[in-house]
Amino acid sequence: MQKKMIIAIDGPSGVGKSTLSRLLAHRLNYVNIDTGAMYRCVALAARRRGVDLTDEEALVRLCRGLRLEFLRNDGQERVLLDGEDVTEAIRTPENSMRTSQVSALPGVRRAMLTLQRQMGAGGGVVLEGRDIGTVVFPEAEVKIFLQADPVERARRRCAELQAKGLEVNLDQTVADVMARDAADSSREHAPLVQAEDAVAIDTTHLNIEQVLERILAVVQGQVERSGTALERTVP
Ligand code: C5P
Repeated sequence: MQKKMIIAIDGPSGVGKSTLSRLLAHRLNYVNIDTGAMYRCVALAARRRGVDLTDEEALVRLCRGLRLEFLRNDGQERVLLDGEDVTEAIRTPENSMRTSQVSALPGVRRAMLTLQRQMGAGGGVVLEGRDIGTVVFPEAEVKIFLQADPVERARRRCAELQAKGLEVNLDQTVADVMARDAADSSREHAPLVQAEDAVAIDTTHLNIEQVLERILAVVQGQVERSGTALERTVP
């Protein structure tokens, strides 16, 4: 039986990570783990429980007690926080900014790292995030780093929010995207950087199918190159 790989998909927001990871996981029959959604749940839970975003100790305690579930319902991925469906609530612009704040805290990252490694340890997973190929699974068999022009990424984010009935402002979204990029890239712990051995794909002028084809080609190349390592028997 083929060993199932760990596939890391990293990159900034609005670059297409979520859609591509979901499609890729579906195509390979792998589990998709959205690590951004995990950090988003921490930020939402903190607001709901009145935990100050600068109180790292309280946030770490909060992380340890969180009950996170990823479900697929009618072909849609849903995120449950303590049993409640928060798929939409975690994606508001306000919660996005709060997420960048909590995700910069080393204690929060450590707690999430433990969970993410447990979730991906058996392989057969596509993990999407910012630090999967550099910190969470530096040994991942396939590492993809997605990039795209910030204005194009803001346009995509606006379209996504609009489709959900939320009001959007492109200028504000461009500013938010750039502020979040700056925060994610400049933080001290696990910043957003491309792993040396990642394959970079610029998605600015590509549609989802084109990017998916390129990623599948990288996966296929890896299977062929490391045939022996990938085809070892796993229980
Ligand atoms: O990918 P998404 O936009 O949902 O991520 C939300 C936020 O979570 C990011 O802006 C980043 O601050 C944080 N994040 C992170 N490390 C990850 C995934 C997300 O710091 N692996």
